[in-house]
Amino acid sequence: MEPTGELLRALFQEAGLSEYGTCDFDPALCRLPSRKRLPPGARSLVMAAVPYYVGRFPHRNVSRYAMVQDYHTVSGALLERVSLRLREAFPGEQFLALVDASPIDEVEAGRRAGLGVRGLHGQLINETYGSYIFIGAIVSTVRFPPSRPKEGGCLRCGRCLAACPTGALNDRGLVRGRCRSHLTQKKKLTDPEERAQISAGGMAWGCDICTDCCPMNRGKAYSGIPDFYRNICAVVRDTNLDAMIADRAYAYKGQAVLRRNLGLIEHSAAPDAHR
Ligand code: SF4
Ligand code: SF4
Repeated sequence: MEPTGELLRALFQEAGLSEYGTCDFDPALCRLPSRKRLPPGARSLVMAAVPYYVGRFPHRNVSRYAMVQDYHTVSGALLERVSLRLREAFPGEQFLALVDASPIDEVEAGRRAGLGVRGLHGQLINETYGSYIFIGAIVSTVRFPPSRPKEGGCLRCGRCLAACPTGALNDRGLVRGRCRSHLTQKKKLTDPEERAQISAGGMAWGCDICTDCCPMNRGKAYSGIPDFYRNICAVVRDTNLDAMIADRAYAYKGQAVLRRNLGLIEHSAAPDAHR
């Protein structure tokens, strides 16, 4: 193993993360115009999967990733910890940790870095944790030897496409405007059909159907991140929203969006697709 490979192994182990890999920095992986936020002279991307599956919770009304503490905070702290140690190991070099709101195409970068394969549902499927993962990146001016991309991992069975209740997911990709997850996050709903879809979904935030139906997500490992087991909230209500919203991924949308969704799902039956 290359010396830098040993170092990364040690640093990620210290952070409690087993799934990481590297790929060459490629400007094509960056969404414009955000590319200028990245360190000039970037040579590698160090990619990591932060697993968030903490149990079945069949009766939740928020997406699995939103039941747990805000991943921006938790994943961001873990990646920042690795970045800090890399700065100590390579004085004068730059390491920028990015979690979500990132200019990097994380699924493609994660695929190139050997974290998993892209499923037909558009998510990265990791061998250990399935697609119940957040993907983070560290942009590095040090070049790390690239990892080898994985093969297999998506059966191409089409279950995710068939299970999508809105037709948002099809063989050409995702039509975002029809995705219930996206609709629950919209500040303004412009069409009665959008309200109807939220109501039918029975979720105050997110959807999860195409994720939960995927056979590659069966029997995967639980998250080993202790912070994700603190104060899990699977069901958001008018009465607990005040207490929950501060440290959840939906905080950035504000209470009004969640309260609107709660109103829309008040009389809807719990969707049996959420298992
Ligand atoms: S449901 Fe089937 S096609 Fe869709 S991502 Fe999973 S394995 Fe791939
Ligand atoms: S999250 Fe739900 S609505 Fe969106 S693509 Fe997946 S199954 Fe379809």
